[in-house]
Amino acid sequence: MRSSASGYLIERVEKGDADAALELMGASDWGSALELFRTASEIRDRALGRRVRFIGHVADVSPCSVTPPCRYCSLSSTIREYRAQRSPLALREVIEYSRHLVDAGVPAILYGGGISPASGTIATSIARSVREFSDVELLFNVGPIGEDHVDELGRLGVRRFVLSLETMDRALFGDARPGDDLGRKLEFVDLLAGKGMGVEPILMNGVGAPRDLVMSIAALGDVRNLVGLRFSTFSPVPGTPWEGRPPASALTTLKACAIARIMYPRIRIDLAAGTPDGVKPLSLLAGCGDEMVGVIVGRRGSRDSIGELSGYAREMGFSVDAPRAS
Ligand code: SF4
Repeated sequence: MRSSASGYLIERVEKGDADAALELMGASDWGSALELFRTASEIRDRALGRRVRFIGHVADVSPCSVTPPCRYCSLSSTIREYRAQRSPLALREVIEYSRHLVDAGVPAILYGGGISPASGTIATSIARSVREFSDVELLFNVGPIGEDHVDELGRLGVRRFVLSLETMDRALFGDARPGDDLGRKLEFVDLLAGKGMGVEPILMNGVGAPRDLVMSIAALGDVRNLVGLRFSTFSPVPGTPWEGRPPASALTTLKACAIARIMYPRIRIDLAAGTPDGVKPLSLLAGCGDEMVGVIVGRRGSRDSIGELSGYAREMGFSVDAPRAS
């Protein structure tokens, strides 16, 4: 039994109490935040162990036909060079990047891209090509795809999908992603569940207020195949409808990680691409793990953070499964 006021709230969050989670998110004293992070870390250590592994991410593998484009996305920018950042890679480039990641020894590769009628075909083409040279675990975030493609990916060994939900609030979803369909995405989650496949939603801090983020975390309690959760932190892109919004708070993102860890002890929690520099290593203090994207490659350049992240992780007493870490 925890004795402090925030300890009592944490016990209620462990039971899925969204109101208690809202109070924790809103607490502005430093002591409450530290207790939240310490509890989340202890829960992670008990549920998953104090270890972390690093996976690879290939970005922009598929085009996007969502119309109008999401209001925070560079595809909605009036500035051509921002829109061009989302030009999809050719399959040949995706496979070259995949070979590079496999050669580097990553245990899993996440492929991300836009949503279009071609997404399922692209995902299965990638998976078939990679299977010619590797049995590395494959994850896809290319939006809902048809059942036939899900089945084929299942035969190729895919066991979990990442899905950009951003929020579980329909009104906020419609505001942020006016060309997308939350209902269709939740049907896709159900389809995956029916096939024994896991889902790892992405929630965005900055779509709505911090309380909306907490309510979305709590709403995921109904998702029976929830195996992971990724948090992104809104940052304005010039020329987009949301260019004038202030960037979301990294501290709120870390609190969200901790609340999610307390509610869902065994899932994998990570910060999504676009996290402000320097925040990702701190996420281990807030209960994230036991898997992190350590390398991102794609049209917008390559970034290998495995050395930096594994250094921080070791300093914090984690055992590290890092392909090229010394
Ligand atoms: S679905 Fe993704 S790529 Fe397409 S507009 Fe929305 S955020 Fe951009």
